[in-house]
Amino acid sequence: MKQKDLLYTGKAKSVYHTDTKGKLIVEFRDDITAFDGGKKDVLKNKGSYNAGVSAFFFEHLEKNGVKTHFFSMLDPYHMIVRKLEMIPLEVIVRNIAAGSIVRNYPFKEGTPLNPPVIVIDYKDDAHHDPMLNDEIILALKLVTPAELKKIKKVALEVNRLLYALLSSQGITLVDFKIEFGRQGKTIYLGDEISMDSMRLWDKKSGESLDKDVYRFEKGDVMAVYNQVAQRITRPVKKQ
Ligand code: 5GP
Repeated sequence: MKQKDLLYTGKAKSVYHTDTKGKLIVEFRDDITAFDGGKKDVLKNKGSYNAGVSAFFFEHLEKNGVKTHFFSMLDPYHMIVRKLEMIPLEVIVRNIAAGSIVRNYPFKEGTPLNPPVIVIDYKDDAHHDPMLNDEIILALKLVTPAELKKIKKVALEVNRLLYALLSSQGITLVDFKIEFGRQGKTIYLGDEISMDSMRLWDKKSGESLDKDVYRFEKGDVMAVYNQVAQRITRPVKKQ
């Protein structure tokens, strides 16, 4: 498959057309940003760690009945995906209170949220990704009521599957953000699922294993991303 023109470039990924109908190539770059792009760096190998972890998660989800845009990896930085019409929603699932929910509401960091809390933000840099509610989502005509119901159901299923997978590797899935797109009437999970878009805490030490290490300068972020990529993708030990 040949890479063609650039379709879209974001803060850490670029998306290219291909010579194959219905397929795109996503390039995971070595760029890392935080705070609405206010902090940015280029960190060697970062793109390959996120691409590898995303591919691993997408494969696991597909095996368990979740429809994703993932086809295969072209090389450690490039993923072949299904072309989707992306829905501009950031669907966040929270198992433990951390980050913006602690800043904006009277939750103490570390409080378990059971059942998990779904928060949906509008993917719109100009408005700083404001939080939406169901009525605003429908009034903006971003999805149909049936699509919204489906998206929430799939988000909880992704949470259930990834929580269990990570837990078996000694990692707590605190929260994560996913994005969806459609092809025709079918909704697919798109974008990425990586250390950039999840909050992961080591079960034993409680240490952050995600972009919070970069955001809050908690240590060597690439050493942590490498460690997580190795840890997540290794076979689970039988008990
Ligand atoms: P918070 O709302 O606490 O900042 O983020 C909740 C979760 O969603 C975190 O795991 C965070 O990494 C992820 N998240 C929220 N917004 C974005 C975003 O714009 N980009 C990415 N990659 N992840 C996000």
